[in-house]
Amino acid sequence: MKLYNSATHTKEDFVPHTPGKVEMYTCGPTVYHFAHIGNLRSYLMEDVLEKFLRYEGYDVNRVMNITDVGHLASDADTGEDKMLKGAKREHKSVMEIAQFYTDAFFSDCKKLNIKHPDAVQPATGMIDEYIQTISKLLDTGYAYVAGGNVYFDTSKLGKYYVFNDHDEEDLAVGVREGVEEDTNKRNKNDFVLWFTKSKFEDQALKWDSPWGVGYPGWHIECSCISMKYNGEYLDLHCGGIDNAFPHHTNEIAQSESYLGHPWCKYWMHVHHLNTNTGKMSKSKGEFLTVSLLEEKGYDPLVYRFFCLQSHYRKGLVFSWENLDNAKAAYEKLIARVAALSGEGEVDQAAFEQYKAAFIEAVGNDLNTSLGITALYDVLKADMNDATKAALIGSFDTVLGLDLLAKAAALKEKEAAPVEGAEEIEALIAQRAQAKKEKNWARADAIRDELKAMGIEIKDTPNGVEWKKI
Ligand code: AMP
Ligand code: ZN
Repeated sequence: MKLYNSATHTKEDFVPHTPGKVEMYTCGPTVYHFAHIGNLRSYLMEDVLEKFLRYEGYDVNRVMNITDVGHLASDADTGEDKMLKGAKREHKSVMEIAQFYTDAFFSDCKKLNIKHPDAVQPATGMIDEYIQTISKLLDTGYAYVAGGNVYFDTSKLGKYYVFNDHDEEDLAVGVREGVEEDTNKRNKNDFVLWFTKSKFEDQALKWDSPWGVGYPGWHIECSCISMKYNGEYLDLHCGGIDNAFPHHTNEIAQSESYLGHPWCKYWMHVHHLNTNTGKMSKSKGEFLTVSLLEEKGYDPLVYRFFCLQSHYRKGLVFSWENLDNAKAAYEKLIARVAALSGEGEVDQAAFEQYKAAFIEAVGNDLNTSLGITALYDVLKADMNDATKAALIGSFDTVLGLDLLAKAAALKEKEAAPVEGAEEIEALIAQRAQAKKEKNWARADAIRDELKAMGIEIKDTPNGVEWKKI
């Protein structure tokens, strides 16, 4: 496939380090609160990418961390630990909320058909590995101790800014975040590998280390977890676009300094889900979760369909109106799939031809909306229903919209005898009679009566059709 690589700023042919195998790492959630549907946009698009690579025949090993320590309120290593803040808010221990929100996260993922990663590692389970990595970085001169903390020395690198060509002043974390500068740092972009001193001395989780009792910085966890489960050569690293700097930039700095060779080949960044007031965030405005969508009567897969309709490298604006449009389109699609008879034998030549078109569409930098168009092309095509159904089932292993299962459920619902069907038929007959007698008021009244019973009628050239609404 072709994939836009944020590290080179170009669309490239995707060629993994080992033929046929993809080592993939995706930054996981910070489990101090529910994931909002913006966070889930990132995981969802990463899921489609993973499934597409599997569809192309790759054996994918997808690894994810769970951040349960070290992610401070500001990505610039200042402020309170987000986990501690969450625990205080709920009067629980850090580990209790970590467990609760980790479970909630995976339950949301399941509802959105996001596959469980092959390896999931909570950050607190790897303390020995961080200490070993940081020790080597100190030994080789890439890190220094100041004011009780261990820092990575960014001045030791030939190239630090990988993802953007902005000038240093614009990117300086202190300036960007409007936070006070940490005077222990030798260079403004140096970052903490291990904290023993922070303004918040009541950090809940602390471990012994050669530099004193403390806790790891946020960035080191992803480098160490990936190196442990993916090995020294990572093919693909994903995350939301806000992670590109400083988080991913720092991951590259420390991993490559530690390994002594290039680390990750392709970087895929998902752009944000925005509301009309800007980026969706947990601290701002209405907190949109999968549960809220369900409470409002939306199938979570409507949100998946909504995300797939646009490209991951463009910001996506969420509004209830946009979601309603996606809902209508998704339901219509299911109805069209349900209308297929399934008759005939699969035409292999047609199957291969349309599958190739789908691969071509999605394989062009994960163009999911063109993938959906390829699916509509199948529905419109001149081929038997068995071939159409086989293709839809095949494409859906990538798209994850449960199309065949939903269509089967719809068919079953439609075939089930409706309670009071005789009464409905009788009313429809009375309405026909009223129309014959030009008694329009009576005909309209019967239509309203049926509507009140939850029945919608439609006059067609073949007579009256009715369905439950
Ligand atoms: P966090 O739980 O805050 O560590 O974030 C989890 C993931 O969601 C990261 O990959 C972020 O880059 C991503 N993310 C955060 N906000 C948004 C958003 N509004 N739209 C899409 N992805 C987001
Ligand atoms: Zn990460």
